Amino acid sequence: MRIYPATRLRQILHRIDRRGYKAYKDIAGSYDFHDFILHIDHVQADPFAPPSKVSIVIPLTHTGIPSSLYSNKPRTIALRDYIARTFRKSLTRYTKGLRGSGNSGVFAIDAGGQEILDRSCVQIVGDKLEVRFVMGLPARGRTILARIAEDMFFNELPQVIEHSCLYKNLPTDELHEFVTLYEDASYIRDKLPELGLVAFIGNGAILPRRSGVSELPMSPDRAVVFKAPHSLELELNTPNHGKLRGMGIPKGVTLIVGGGYHGKSTLLRAIERGIYNHVPGDGREWVITIEDTVKIRAEDGRAIHCVDISGFIHNLPTGSDTTCFSTDNASGSTSQAANIIEALELGAKLLLVDEDTSATNFMIRDARMQRLVHKSKEPITPFIDRVRELYDKLGVSTILVMGGSGDYFDVADTVIMMDSYLPKDVTHTAKQIAQMIDAGRNREEAPPLNPIRQRIPLREGIDPRKGNKLRMEAKGKHQIVFGRQTIDLSCVEQLVDTSQTRTIAYAIYYAAKTYVDGKRTISEIMHKVEHDLKTKGFDILAPGPHIKPHNLAYVRRFEIAAALNRLRSLKVKPKS
Ligand code: ADP
Ligand code: MG
Repeated sequence: MRIYPATRLRQILHRIDRRGYKAYKDIAGSYDFHDFILHIDHVQADPFAPPSKVSIVIPLTHTGIPSSLYSNKPRTIALRDYIARTFRKSLTRYTKGLRGSGNSGVFAIDAGGQEILDRSCVQIVGDKLEVRFVMGLPARGRTILARIAEDMFFNELPQVIEHSCLYKNLPTDELHEFVTLYEDASYIRDKLPELGLVAFIGNGAILPRRSGVSELPMSPDRAVVFKAPHSLELELNTPNHGKLRGMGIPKGVTLIVGGGYHGKSTLLRAIERGIYNHVPGDGREWVITIEDTVKIRAEDGRAIHCVDISGFIHNLPTGSDTTCFSTDNASGSTSQAANIIEALELGAKLLLVDEDTSATNFMIRDARMQRLVHKSKEPITPFIDRVRELYDKLGVSTILVMGGSGDYFDVADTVIMMDSYLPKDVTHTAKQIAQMIDAGRNREEAPPLNPIRQRIPLREGIDPRKGNKLRMEAKGKHQIVFGRQTIDLSCVEQLVDTSQTRTIAYAIYYAAKTYVDGKRTISEIMHKVEHDLKTKGFDILAPGPHIKPHNLAYVRRFEIAAALNRLRSLKVKPKS
């Protein structure tokens, strides 16, 4: 690759001024700006097309960023995320924005929200920092406005870079806190298993959000600050933040009870997001959950492909085989059962269940109903009769919000009551009550859960083409367009960013062409894809050789598989 002096870019721009938009193609290439190298990787075809893909590269030594801030993997992820955010802030400050037709004059970088994520927009490769972003090359109508382009490249961009990539211009305390917080949160997550915990919620946490449509924290004058009950309180040591106190949720079956509107779901939602590290000031900085945690819910209408849900549902009135259950329109209970089995298939270690989003008949079947509807007429073995087995036999813990039925007292290890937004440990009392007042129900007679049967996906069911073009696209956070189909992810609740959804779309294609061979199981394939993303980075998902993905973000195998499992054309065979 040849790198030209920046003056050449200026010359080309002068030459193509006022010409038709296509002449912009001439500026593709690499230019030495002395302080950084500019790569114009892809030039948009017209001003209304997605903006042009651009990147800059600076030697790390030149940035002055101390090497301690990228001395290990967690620190590097946080530093990169931080630079993306600062770059975005600098764009609003040092660029003039829209001027001309379509996307003319616009700059954008794919920086994140409340979660700190591994993202493709900022990379550290060897001893170099690379920032990938987009620029709308300016035009009036379709006539090139090269003077403005020149201003964008030669005045605005260097200022943005200076204020987001050079250590001397960064708020160093804030950056340091950002990086060390991420490191400590990751440290705690790694420590949880050996402490016998599945989640930790630090004292002082603010769990509620500002509103149903905002992920920002509720204002401190309204929010009740989290404080662990004495019996569940413990102290953790962190590398950078000293000792932290908070509530540890042990492995096993944990029940969150309490009156309506007392903060049960809010606690569960924070735990669900605890698979990610949060930005300073989020309120959930010290809410940490083990990585292999999957939120489970009912999702009627989804497609299911040969999932063995027989442990929960058998003897359907249609006579369908529930050891290989397929449908293109699942019910509440069958969808919830499939969601559990698919999570177990991929190695989930903690399931999160909220009564608000569960099928009641999947969760409970009380004494009176057992009396009225005979077992032979009820296909469902409710979750209450499996939840212990999941832990005792498979080592899979559950945290369950259940304000509506005390039947679960019998099967819980820990019972936490939310009382005006504060947790109390009521395990002892709940157990006493369970002894005093018999639930009167019989454990449903059911054979033990089958070992999880792995499934093998077939190539023919995964087609990313539309006509003769590849089509993989995120339409917002909860929808993927894949070939001729759309995949609905609105019930995959641990997705937090559209860039993750985009990553999933590409990852399915990557998985299909790299690993789907009619022999490997979904779980094997997903572990491989997850591993590749972690070790080789996002560039493995690039749809072509010279394309550098600029808007992808960390996802787990659970979310990638969730999308694959919801692809309506998917074909699988059970592993024999
Ligand atoms: P539940 O699931 O127990 O019915 P929710 O978790 O849905 O209750 O919370 C009910 C309301 O209380 C929500 O509007 C939520 O934002 C608010 N809330 C939750 N936790 C707190 C808190 N710690 N401080 C203040 N308000 C809270
Ligand atoms: Mg609730």
